[in-house]
Amino acid sequence: MAERQETGSRKLLGRLRDAMAGNVEGQARLDRITHLIADSMGCEVCSIYLFRDEDTLELCATEGLNQDAVHETRMKLGEGLVGMVARRRRVVNTADAPQTKGFRYMPETGEEVFSSFLGVPIQRLGDALGVLVVQSRTAREFLPDEVYALEVVAMVLAEMTELGAFVGEGAAMSARHLQPAMYRGTVGQEGAAEGHVWLHEPRVVVTNVIADDPVRESERLREAVEQLRVGVDKMLEIAGNHDKDQQQVLEAYRMFANSKGWMRRMEEDISNGLSAEASVEKEQSLARARMGQVSDNYLRERLSDLDDLSNRLLRILTGQGADTGAEMPADPILVARNIGPAELLEYGRSLKGIVLEEGSVGSHAAIVARALAIPLIVHASRVTTEALNGDHIMVDGEQGIAHLRPDDTVVTAFRDKIAMLAAAQERYTSIRDKPAQTRNGAVVSLHMNAGLMADLPSLVNSGAEGVGLFRTELQFLVRNQMPRRSELVALYARVLDAAQGRRVVFRTLDIGSDKVLPYMKPNDEPNPALGWRAIRVGLDKPGIMRMQLQALIRAANGRPLTVMFPFVAQFEEYREARRLMDKTMAAEKRLGHVLPESLEIGAMLETPSLAFAPVKFFEEVDFLSIGGNDLKQFFFAADRENERVRRRYDTLNVSFLSFLEGIVERCGLTKTPLSFCGEDAGRPVEAMCLAAIGFRSLSMRPASIGPVKSLLRRTDLDKLRKIIADARHRGEMSVRPSVMEWLRQQS
Ligand code: PEP
Ligand code: MG
Repeated sequence: MAERQETGSRKLLGRLRDAMAGNVEGQARLDRITHLIADSMGCEVCSIYLFRDEDTLELCATEGLNQDAVHETRMKLGEGLVGMVARRRRVVNTADAPQTKGFRYMPETGEEVFSSFLGVPIQRLGDALGVLVVQSRTAREFLPDEVYALEVVAMVLAEMTELGAFVGEGAAMSARHLQPAMYRGTVGQEGAAEGHVWLHEPRVVVTNVIADDPVRESERLREAVEQLRVGVDKMLEIAGNHDKDQQQVLEAYRMFANSKGWMRRMEEDISNGLSAEASVEKEQSLARARMGQVSDNYLRERLSDLDDLSNRLLRILTGQGADTGAEMPADPILVARNIGPAELLEYGRSLKGIVLEEGSVGSHAAIVARALAIPLIVHASRVTTEALNGDHIMVDGEQGIAHLRPDDTVVTAFRDKIAMLAAAQERYTSIRDKPAQTRNGAVVSLHMNAGLMADLPSLVNSGAEGVGLFRTELQFLVRNQMPRRSELVALYARVLDAAQGRRVVFRTLDIGSDKVLPYMKPNDEPNPALGWRAIRVGLDKPGIMRMQLQALIRAANGRPLTVMFPFVAQFEEYREARRLMDKTMAAEKRLGHVLPESLEIGAMLETPSLAFAPVKFFEEVDFLSIGGNDLKQFFFAADRENERVRRRYDTLNVSFLSFLEGIVERCGLTKTPLSFCGEDAGRPVEAMCLAAIGFRSLSMRPASIGPVKSLLRRTDLDKLRKIIADARHRGEMSVRPSVMEWLRQQS
């Protein structure tokens, strides 16, 4: 019986392939297919329903139902038995459809006379594309072999839909890869860009879904799996014992690569007429569908391992390596699930924009994108499934929206936006060499944040007075191993050379929390943001900090040097760090190195506790810089990485402003130079309010200097102070609404 059914399946697929071949319009193809399936399966009805939009299915072709219903009958996801198959991504097999829960009568189709119903989802890699249905008058449940055969056909249809086989005059839908699509994500870096998709990991395209030589296909599969096993073993050997996480993933790979069940299912598919590639993809689709339903993290990770392994196997089978031979467009917009900072740096400034399916605003990749001033959107879900290399794409980094294959209206509106941004940029260039002097005569010095060599040209272009924050950890993060001291000396010297005498504030390593060095043993901490990070690591492991301080002294080579310690929570930590610096200076002197002409040692104020440190601390510290990103998260107890709570508390909240004012006041009394270097310093309205409450030094990403300066130059801080005071007096929670209203009245 099984033998007979397998042959039947293969025969059906063979007929299907013939129906697909030839230069036929999409609709005619769909019609032929429904006829053929109904005929082969001995059913009166075969229908194909495809998604019209995200939640509407449309009857696109039928054999046996009323032809007038084609392209007329539509149902919502979950509606009727067809909608149920699509929603649950599961087969519905019933002998008595009208009596089955969920059945919905569609009078225009004339289906009431058909009793038995078998519907299977048409899906590809976990993506639902439609539903394939057969029906017959005789009340009977379909046999498992028949269900299996229809599932295989549905998979072939999914591939064909992907390849655009049903596109053309009169067809109900265009291939999904031809339709415009919009993705709403989160802003990682502002700006707007137009270009063409460059997939970081190109999708494998399977063109030969059906094969008529199962022996040959099985052989190909076995050879490919063998190659895969050898590859995984090699990776395990290289990984060795030291990286437990990586080892665990590779062990899971090895387990799948040796799994008999996996192999058996794929061989079964091949014997039923699928090509080796299609059999792998079928398994992968199932795994992806399961991934969407499983809530257990461990299981999800294993399924995702299987997904990755399937991709590797597909690459071996199709010969499409990561390098598909495709040529990078001249205006590439990188589209990826996620990307590491080092990989992003390799692309460098060649990219016009970046759209990520995962990622986070505070990730290192985001920091690199910001340093390179490349518009970035994160959390654009599904973009990698739908974008193809070379697709036209527009990235709106102001709104966090990507338009894929945009239509003409979107293109026109978007180009207007790009032109407006360019005009604004030009205005900023015209004030580049002018001071940020407010209407009432206050001068605010504007500095830039940096961390990569790629940032350095901005020192001249942006009009920054210096580098207010050099995040030294970025250089550590983008490498696979701890940089050597000599490398650091060369790097810091280049930074100082590029600064041409402008002040550069080097912040010592701020690692821990979300910034985990790939070559350092990770710490399993319940709450890393409150854990062993930044100066806490530096003081507990003085070797690294000493090495970094030595490198800075040597790089300065007699020039002035400014060093800042991150995440100081209490006076003693600053003192201890300073003592380490003194000792290092003395040792360097003994070794015959030239000492810096002058040395300033400051601290970052990122924890509320430091704002209440003894007066002596404010007298001893050479300067303070407020790390608003961290300070705000601890002040409001709201994780800066958590999109849910991050936006809940406004920087212009009256309590936070009062707290900052207190710090300004304390610094004023002790004459401690104070600046602000969190992201808020780069937001014009926030920067203006910081200036109003007394900040005279702000450090921000280079692209923000123009907009911040432009607004400051138009502002009368005395008037703004009154607006803020009045809002407070009225008991408002945040001064933002009043400030925004005041700005509107002025423009
Ligand atoms: C901050 O916390 O505001 C800051 C500038 O440091 P980072 O963003 O690197 O933690
Ligand atoms: Mg910080």
